Amino acid sequence: MEVVIWGANELGRYVAKNMKCEDIDIVPLAFVDNNHELQNTVIDKVDVISYEDLKERKNLREITVLLAVKNAKNIFQILEQLDGTPVANVGIVKPKVGFSGLKVDPSQKEGNVIWSKFAGDTYRFLPRIEVNLIDACNLKCRGCTHFSSIFKNDSVYPIRDYKRDLLQLRKVGQILRLRLLGGEPFLLENLDEYIMITREIFPKTDIEIVTNGLLIPNISHRIVSAMNLNDVSIAISPYRPTLKMKKQIVERLDKHKITWHFEGEEISWFSRNMTLEDTHDPKFSNAKCSSAACTFLRKGKLYKCPLEGMINDFNNYYGLDEVHEGGISVFEDENILYGKTVEYALNPIDMCKYCAEEPESISWSVEANPSLEDWLYKDGSLTDA
Ligand code: SF4
Ligand code: SF4
Repeated sequence: MEVVIWGANELGRYVAKNMKCEDIDIVPLAFVDNNHELQNTVIDKVDVISYEDLKERKNLREITVLLAVKNAKNIFQILEQLDGTPVANVGIVKPKVGFSGLKVDPSQKEGNVIWSKFAGDTYRFLPRIEVNLIDACNLKCRGCTHFSSIFKNDSVYPIRDYKRDLLQLRKVGQILRLRLLGGEPFLLENLDEYIMITREIFPKTDIEIVTNGLLIPNISHRIVSAMNLNDVSIAISPYRPTLKMKKQIVERLDKHKITWHFEGEEISWFSRNMTLEDTHDPKFSNAKCSSAACTFLRKGKLYKCPLEGMINDFNNYYGLDEVHEGGISVFEDENILYGKTVEYALNPIDMCKYCAEEPESISWSVEANPSLEDWLYKDGSLTDA
Protein backbone atom coordinates (compact mmCIF):
# COMPACT_ATOMS: atom_id res chain seq x y z
CA MET A 1 0.00 0.00 0.00
CA GLU A 2 1.44 3.38 -1.00
CA VAL A 3 0.57 6.12 1.45
CA VAL A 4 1.49 9.78 1.35
CA ILE A 5 1.01 11.94 4.45
CA TRP A 6 -0.01 15.52 3.74
CA GLY A 7 1.39 17.58 6.60
CA ALA A 8 4.94 17.24 7.92
CA ASN A 9 3.90 18.82 11.21
CA GLU A 10 3.67 17.23 14.66
CA LEU A 11 0.53 15.24 13.81
CA GLY A 12 1.98 14.11 10.46
CA ARG A 13 5.16 12.88 12.12
CA TYR A 14 3.13 11.02 14.71
CA VAL A 15 1.10 9.33 11.96
CA ALA A 16 4.26 8.40 10.02
CA LYS A 17 5.51 6.49 13.06
CA ASN A 18 2.18 4.90 13.93
CA MET A 19 0.69 3.49 10.73
CA LYS A 20 -0.19 -0.16 10.94
CA CYS A 21 -2.29 -2.54 8.88
CA GLU A 22 -2.95 -6.02 10.29
CA ASP A 23 0.05 -5.67 12.61
CA ILE A 24 2.38 -4.71 9.76
CA ASP A 25 4.07 -1.32 10.04
CA ILE A 26 3.59 0.92 7.01
CA VAL A 27 6.18 3.51 6.05
CA PRO A 28 4.89 6.53 4.11
CA LEU A 29 6.15 7.16 0.63
CA ALA A 30 6.63 10.83 1.41
CA PHE A 31 5.32 13.83 3.31
CA VAL A 32 3.63 16.46 1.18
CA ASP A 33 3.64 19.97 2.58
CA ASN A 34 2.80 23.42 1.23
CA ASN A 35 5.40 25.02 3.48
CA HIS A 36 8.32 25.89 1.17
CA GLU A 37 10.75 25.76 4.09
CA LEU A 38 9.96 22.09 4.68
CA GLN A 39 9.96 21.04 1.03
CA ASN A 40 13.08 19.16 -0.12
CA THR A 41 14.03 18.26 3.46
CA VAL A 42 14.01 14.81 5.05
CA ILE A 43 12.11 14.18 8.28
CA ASP A 44 12.49 10.88 10.15
CA LYS A 45 14.04 9.40 6.96
CA VAL A 46 11.00 10.41 4.87
CA ASP A 47 11.25 12.98 2.02
CA VAL A 48 9.14 16.13 2.23
CA ILE A 49 7.95 17.16 -1.22
CA SER A 50 5.49 19.59 -2.80
CA TYR A 51 2.18 18.52 -4.30
CA GLU A 52 3.54 19.36 -7.77
CA ASP A 53 6.44 16.95 -7.16
CA LEU A 54 4.06 14.25 -6.03
CA LYS A 55 1.99 14.60 -9.22
CA GLU A 56 5.15 14.26 -11.31
CA ARG A 57 6.44 11.22 -9.43
CA LYS A 58 3.28 9.18 -8.90
CA ASN A 59 0.03 8.11 -10.49
CA LEU A 60 -2.39 9.52 -7.95
CA ARG A 61 -5.02 6.95 -8.88
CA GLU A 62 -2.86 4.38 -7.12
CA ILE A 63 -2.03 6.07 -3.87
CA THR A 64 -3.70 6.90 -0.59
CA VAL A 65 -3.38 10.49 0.64
CA LEU A 66 -3.76 10.95 4.38
CA LEU A 67 -4.22 14.53 5.55
CA ALA A 68 -2.62 15.02 8.96
CA VAL A 69 -3.65 18.63 9.37
CA LYS A 70 -5.65 20.16 12.23
CA ASN A 71 -6.25 23.69 10.99
CA ALA A 72 -9.62 23.91 9.22
CA LYS A 73 -8.49 26.68 6.85
CA ASN A 74 -5.48 24.62 5.75
CA ILE A 75 -7.70 21.57 5.19
CA PHE A 76 -10.05 23.55 2.95
CA GLN A 77 -7.03 24.89 1.01
CA ILE A 78 -5.62 21.38 0.49
CA LEU A 79 -9.00 20.06 -0.64
CA GLU A 80 -9.14 22.88 -3.18
CA GLN A 81 -5.71 21.79 -4.45
CA LEU A 82 -6.97 18.22 -4.79
CA ASP A 83 -10.15 19.28 -6.60
CA GLY A 84 -10.38 17.70 -10.02
CA THR A 85 -7.72 15.08 -9.23
CA PRO A 86 -8.98 11.54 -8.75
CA VAL A 87 -6.74 10.18 -5.99
CA ALA A 88 -7.36 6.51 -5.07
CA ASN A 89 -8.24 7.36 -1.47
CA VAL A 90 -8.31 10.61 0.45
CA GLY A 91 -8.67 10.53 4.22
CA ILE A 92 -8.22 12.94 7.10
CA VAL A 93 -6.65 11.68 10.31
CA LYS A 94 -8.81 12.50 13.33
CA PRO A 95 -7.11 15.22 15.37
CA LYS A 96 -7.48 13.26 18.63
CA VAL A 97 -5.10 10.59 17.30
CA GLY A 98 -2.13 12.82 18.10
CA PHE A 99 -2.80 12.97 21.83
CA SER A 100 -4.45 9.62 22.51
CA GLY A 101 -1.67 7.21 21.50
CA LEU A 102 -3.86 5.61 18.81
CA LYS A 103 -2.57 3.81 15.70
CA VAL A 104 -3.62 4.78 12.19
CA ASP A 105 -4.77 2.12 9.75
CA PRO A 106 -4.69 3.39 6.16
CA SER A 107 -6.49 0.27 4.89
CA GLN A 108 -9.79 1.90 5.96
CA LYS A 109 -10.56 -0.97 8.32
CA GLU A 110 -10.36 1.04 11.51
CA GLY A 111 -11.90 4.29 12.53
CA ASN A 112 -9.14 6.82 13.14
CA VAL A 113 -9.37 8.27 9.66
CA ILE A 114 -12.40 9.84 7.97
CA TRP A 115 -12.53 8.97 4.28
CA SER A 116 -14.03 10.72 1.31
CA LYS A 117 -14.63 9.27 -2.12
CA PHE A 118 -14.08 11.38 -5.21
CA ALA A 119 -17.57 12.74 -5.87
CA GLY A 120 -18.09 14.76 -9.04
CA ASP A 121 -14.81 16.61 -9.04
CA THR A 122 -14.39 17.33 -5.37
CA TYR A 123 -13.65 15.82 -1.96
CA ARG A 124 -16.14 16.96 0.62
CA PHE A 125 -15.27 17.38 4.26
CA LEU A 126 -16.38 19.88 6.84
CA PRO A 127 -13.17 20.03 8.89
CA ARG A 128 -14.52 21.70 11.98
CA ILE A 129 -17.97 22.68 13.15
CA GLU A 130 -18.52 24.41 16.48
CA VAL A 131 -21.87 24.66 18.19
CA ASN A 132 -23.05 26.28 21.42
CA LEU A 133 -25.34 23.77 23.12
CA ILE A 134 -25.95 26.43 25.76
CA ASP A 135 -24.83 30.06 25.62
CA ALA A 136 -24.47 30.64 29.37
CA CYS A 137 -21.37 29.78 31.36
CA ASN A 138 -20.52 29.32 35.02
CA LEU A 139 -17.19 31.15 34.68
CA LYS A 140 -18.02 34.45 32.90
CA CYS A 141 -14.62 35.40 31.57
CA ARG A 142 -14.18 39.03 30.56
CA GLY A 143 -13.97 39.23 26.78
CA CYS A 144 -15.33 35.69 26.15
CA THR A 145 -15.56 35.41 22.35
CA HIS A 146 -18.97 33.74 22.74
CA PHE A 147 -20.33 36.56 24.95
CA SER A 148 -21.31 33.94 27.53
CA SER A 149 -21.75 36.33 30.43
CA ILE A 150 -24.70 38.11 28.78
CA PHE A 151 -26.74 34.89 28.65
CA LYS A 152 -28.88 33.08 31.22
CA ASN A 153 -29.08 29.35 31.83
CA ASP A 154 -32.18 28.96 29.63
CA SER A 155 -30.15 29.92 26.52
CA VAL A 156 -30.17 26.37 25.21
CA TYR A 157 -30.05 25.03 21.61
CA PRO A 158 -33.44 23.27 21.59
CA ILE A 159 -32.76 19.59 21.12
CA ARG A 160 -35.25 19.19 18.26
CA ASP A 161 -33.69 22.09 16.34
CA TYR A 162 -30.22 20.71 17.03
CA LYS A 163 -31.15 17.32 15.61
CA ARG A 164 -32.85 18.90 12.60
CA ASP A 165 -29.77 21.05 11.83
CA LEU A 166 -27.32 18.14 12.17
CA LEU A 167 -29.45 16.04 9.82
CA GLN A 168 -29.20 18.84 7.25
CA LEU A 169 -25.41 19.00 7.67
CA ARG A 170 -25.09 15.26 7.21
CA LYS A 171 -26.27 15.68 3.62
CA VAL A 172 -23.28 17.95 2.93
CA GLY A 173 -20.43 15.65 3.84
CA GLN A 174 -18.37 14.16 6.63
CA ILE A 175 -17.57 16.34 9.60
CA LEU A 176 -14.05 15.71 10.82
CA ARG A 177 -14.37 17.40 14.19
CA LEU A 178 -17.55 18.55 15.91
CA ARG A 179 -16.91 20.71 18.96
CA LEU A 180 -19.78 20.95 21.42
CA LEU A 181 -19.30 24.06 23.46
CA GLY A 182 -20.92 27.16 24.87
CA GLY A 183 -21.05 28.62 27.34
CA GLU A 184 -20.41 25.61 29.48
CA PRO A 185 -21.90 22.38 28.06
CA PHE A 186 -21.83 20.61 31.44
CA LEU A 187 -24.52 23.04 32.67
CA LEU A 188 -26.93 20.97 30.58
CA GLU A 189 -28.53 18.25 32.66
CA ASN A 190 -29.55 16.39 29.51
CA LEU A 191 -26.15 16.66 27.81
CA ASP A 192 -26.28 12.87 27.39
CA GLU A 193 -29.21 13.27 24.98
CA TYR A 194 -27.28 15.75 22.84
CA ILE A 195 -24.31 13.37 22.82
CA MET A 196 -26.39 10.41 21.70
CA ILE A 197 -28.08 12.37 18.92
CA THR A 198 -24.73 13.68 17.68
CA ARG A 199 -23.16 10.22 17.59
CA GLU A 200 -26.21 8.70 15.90
CA ILE A 201 -26.10 11.26 13.09
CA PHE A 202 -22.29 11.34 12.78
CA PRO A 203 -21.02 7.84 13.63
CA LYS A 204 -17.41 8.55 12.56
CA THR A 205 -16.84 12.16 13.58
CA ASP A 206 -14.38 13.21 16.25
CA ILE A 207 -16.83 14.60 18.84
CA GLU A 208 -15.26 16.86 21.43
CA ILE A 209 -16.81 18.65 24.40
CA VAL A 210 -15.05 21.93 25.09
CA THR A 211 -15.26 22.89 28.76
CA ASN A 212 -13.70 24.95 31.51
CA GLY A 213 -13.75 21.69 33.50
CA LEU A 214 -15.12 23.13 36.74
CA LEU A 215 -18.22 20.93 36.77
CA ILE A 216 -16.51 17.70 35.74
CA PRO A 217 -15.99 16.26 39.26
CA ASN A 218 -19.77 16.45 39.84
CA ILE A 219 -21.31 15.48 36.50
CA SER A 220 -23.96 12.78 36.55
CA HIS A 221 -23.17 9.16 35.91
CA ARG A 222 -25.61 9.28 32.98
CA ILE A 223 -23.54 11.94 31.21
CA VAL A 224 -20.24 10.19 31.93
CA SER A 225 -21.59 6.92 30.50
CA ALA A 226 -22.90 8.69 27.40
CA MET A 227 -19.43 10.18 26.80
CA ASN A 228 -17.80 6.82 27.30
CA LEU A 229 -20.22 4.80 25.16
CA ASN A 230 -20.19 7.34 22.33
CA ASP A 231 -16.45 7.91 22.15
CA VAL A 232 -16.59 11.58 23.06
CA SER A 233 -13.38 13.30 24.12
CA ILE A 234 -12.96 16.33 26.35
CA ALA A 235 -10.94 19.45 25.56
CA ILE A 236 -10.34 21.37 28.78
CA SER A 237 -9.55 25.09 28.70
CA PRO A 238 -6.94 25.65 31.43
CA TYR A 239 -8.09 28.75 33.31
CA ARG A 240 -6.66 29.48 36.76
CA PRO A 241 -9.69 28.07 38.65
CA THR A 242 -9.60 24.99 36.40
CA LEU A 243 -5.96 24.28 37.12
CA LYS A 244 -6.63 24.47 40.86
CA MET A 245 -8.99 21.51 40.39
CA LYS A 246 -6.87 19.64 37.88
CA LYS A 247 -6.40 16.57 40.07
CA GLN A 248 -10.15 16.02 40.69
CA ILE A 249 -10.96 16.64 37.01
CA VAL A 250 -8.40 14.19 35.73
CA GLU A 251 -9.30 11.52 38.31
CA ARG A 252 -12.98 11.65 37.35
CA LEU A 253 -12.27 11.37 33.62
CA ASP A 254 -9.64 8.65 34.00
CA LYS A 255 -11.92 6.61 36.23
CA HIS A 256 -14.44 6.42 33.37
CA LYS A 257 -11.80 6.02 30.64
CA ILE A 258 -12.72 9.27 28.89
CA THR A 259 -10.08 10.70 26.53
CA TRP A 260 -9.15 14.22 27.59
CA HIS A 261 -6.54 16.88 26.99
CA PHE A 262 -5.83 20.36 28.28
CA GLU A 263 -5.69 22.95 25.49
CA GLY A 264 -2.19 24.24 26.16
CA GLU A 265 -0.75 25.99 29.20
CA GLU A 266 -2.66 28.25 31.57
CA ILE A 267 -4.84 30.75 29.69
CA SER A 268 -3.81 34.08 31.11
CA TRP A 269 -4.57 36.28 28.06
CA PHE A 270 -7.54 36.71 25.76
CA SER A 271 -7.46 38.16 22.30
CA ARG A 272 -9.80 41.08 21.52
CA ASN A 273 -10.53 42.61 18.11
CA MET A 274 -14.20 43.71 18.01
CA THR A 275 -15.09 47.35 17.33
CA LEU A 276 -18.35 49.19 16.60
CA GLU A 277 -17.08 50.79 13.37
CA ASP A 278 -16.98 49.09 9.99
CA THR A 279 -13.79 50.88 9.01
CA HIS A 280 -11.26 48.06 9.13
CA ASP A 281 -9.64 46.21 6.26
CA PRO A 282 -11.48 42.88 6.22
CA LYS A 283 -8.63 41.15 4.37
CA PHE A 284 -6.16 41.87 7.15
CA SER A 285 -8.64 41.30 10.00
CA ASN A 286 -9.54 37.91 8.57
CA ALA A 287 -5.92 36.94 8.00
CA LYS A 288 -4.94 37.62 11.62
CA CYS A 289 -8.09 36.19 13.21
CA SER A 290 -7.93 32.89 15.09
CA SER A 291 -11.70 32.42 14.59
CA ALA A 292 -11.55 32.79 10.80
CA ALA A 293 -12.36 29.14 10.05
CA CYS A 294 -14.35 28.24 13.18
CA THR A 295 -17.50 27.37 11.22
CA PHE A 296 -20.29 27.99 13.72
CA LEU A 297 -23.72 26.34 13.71
CA ARG A 298 -26.53 28.34 15.27
CA LYS A 299 -30.31 28.31 14.85
CA GLY A 300 -30.42 26.72 11.41
CA LYS A 301 -27.46 28.62 9.93
CA LEU A 302 -23.73 28.17 9.45
CA TYR A 303 -21.60 31.22 10.20
CA LYS A 304 -17.98 32.01 9.49
CA CYS A 305 -17.22 32.53 13.17
CA PRO A 306 -18.99 32.83 16.54
CA LEU A 307 -18.97 36.64 16.29
CA GLU A 308 -21.02 36.59 13.11
CA GLY A 309 -23.42 34.05 14.62
CA MET A 310 -23.94 35.91 17.89
CA ILE A 311 -23.60 39.59 17.05
CA ASN A 312 -27.37 40.21 16.94
CA ASP A 313 -27.78 38.76 20.46
CA PHE A 314 -24.96 41.05 21.59
CA ASN A 315 -26.40 44.17 19.93
CA ASN A 316 -29.80 43.40 21.34
CA TYR A 317 -28.43 42.99 24.89
CA TYR A 318 -26.64 46.35 24.77
CA GLY A 319 -29.49 48.16 23.02
CA LEU A 320 -27.56 48.72 19.77
CA ASP A 321 -29.81 49.15 16.74
CA GLU A 322 -27.69 47.46 14.12
CA VAL A 323 -28.90 44.12 12.74
CA HIS A 324 -26.52 41.95 10.70
CA GLU A 325 -27.84 39.64 8.03
CA GLY A 326 -25.42 36.83 7.42
CA GLY A 327 -24.75 33.13 7.61
CA ILE A 328 -25.80 30.33 5.28
CA SER A 329 -29.04 28.46 5.82
CA VAL A 330 -28.50 24.75 6.47
CA PHE A 331 -31.60 24.19 4.33
CA GLU A 332 -29.77 25.33 1.17
CA ASP A 333 -29.08 22.71 -1.48
CA GLU A 334 -26.12 20.69 -0.16
CA ASN A 335 -23.79 21.66 -3.03
CA ILE A 336 -24.48 25.35 -2.50
CA LEU A 337 -24.12 24.99 1.27
CA TYR A 338 -20.76 23.25 0.95
CA GLY A 339 -19.45 25.74 -1.63
CA LYS A 340 -20.48 28.72 0.47
CA THR A 341 -19.01 27.19 3.64
CA VAL A 342 -15.61 26.82 1.94
CA GLU A 343 -15.86 30.36 0.57
CA TYR A 344 -16.72 31.69 4.04
CA ALA A 345 -13.83 29.88 5.69
CA LEU A 346 -11.24 31.04 3.18
CA ASN A 347 -12.31 34.63 2.63
CA PRO A 348 -13.23 37.70 4.67
CA ILE A 349 -16.89 38.53 5.16
CA ASP A 350 -18.59 41.91 5.65
CA MET A 351 -18.53 41.46 9.41
CA CYS A 352 -14.70 41.39 9.34
CA LYS A 353 -14.81 45.15 8.68
CA TYR A 354 -15.82 45.53 12.32
CA CYS A 355 -12.72 43.76 13.61
CA ALA A 356 -9.33 45.36 14.17
CA GLU A 357 -6.60 44.24 11.78
CA GLU A 358 -4.28 43.32 14.65
CA PRO A 359 -6.04 41.88 17.74
CA GLU A 360 -4.95 43.12 21.16
CA SER A 361 -4.44 41.01 24.29
CA ILE A 362 -6.23 41.51 27.59
CA SER A 363 -5.33 39.71 30.76
CA TRP A 364 -7.74 36.96 31.76
CA SER A 365 -10.20 37.81 34.53
CA VAL A 366 -13.80 37.17 35.51
CA GLU A 367 -16.43 39.87 34.95
CA ALA A 368 -20.00 38.85 35.76
CA ASN A 369 -21.56 42.17 34.64
CA PRO A 370 -19.50 43.38 31.69
CA SER A 371 -20.06 46.83 30.23
CA LEU A 372 -20.15 47.35 26.48
CA GLU A 373 -16.57 48.70 26.60
CA ASP A 374 -15.30 45.46 28.16
CA TRP A 375 -15.81 43.75 24.80
CA LEU A 376 -14.35 46.40 22.54
CA TYR A 377 -10.87 46.73 21.08
CA LYS A 378 -9.09 49.77 22.48
CA ASP A 379 -5.63 50.72 21.28
CA GLY A 380 -3.85 47.50 20.42
CA SER A 381 -1.46 47.44 23.33
CA LEU A 382 -1.23 44.65 25.88
CA THR A 383 -3.69 45.73 28.50
CA ASP A 384 -5.29 44.90 31.82
CA ALA A 385 -8.14 47.31 31.13
S1 SF4 B 1 -15.02 29.51 30.23
FE1 SF4 B 1 -14.83 31.69 29.81
S2 SF4 B 1 -14.27 31.81 27.65
FE2 SF4 B 1 -15.06 29.75 28.01
S3 SF4 B 1 -17.25 29.90 27.50
FE3 SF4 B 1 -17.05 30.27 29.71
S4 SF4 B 1 -16.93 32.49 29.88
FE4 SF4 B 1 -16.49 31.98 27.76
S1 SF4 C 1 -15.79 38.69 11.66
FE1 SF4 C 1 -13.85 38.08 10.66
S2 SF4 C 1 -12.21 39.07 11.77
FE2 SF4 C 1 -14.07 39.21 13.04
S3 SF4 C 1 -14.00 37.45 14.41
FE3 SF4 C 1 -15.13 36.78 12.61
S4 SF4 C 1 -13.61 35.92 11.20
FE4 SF4 C 1 -12.53 37.09 12.76
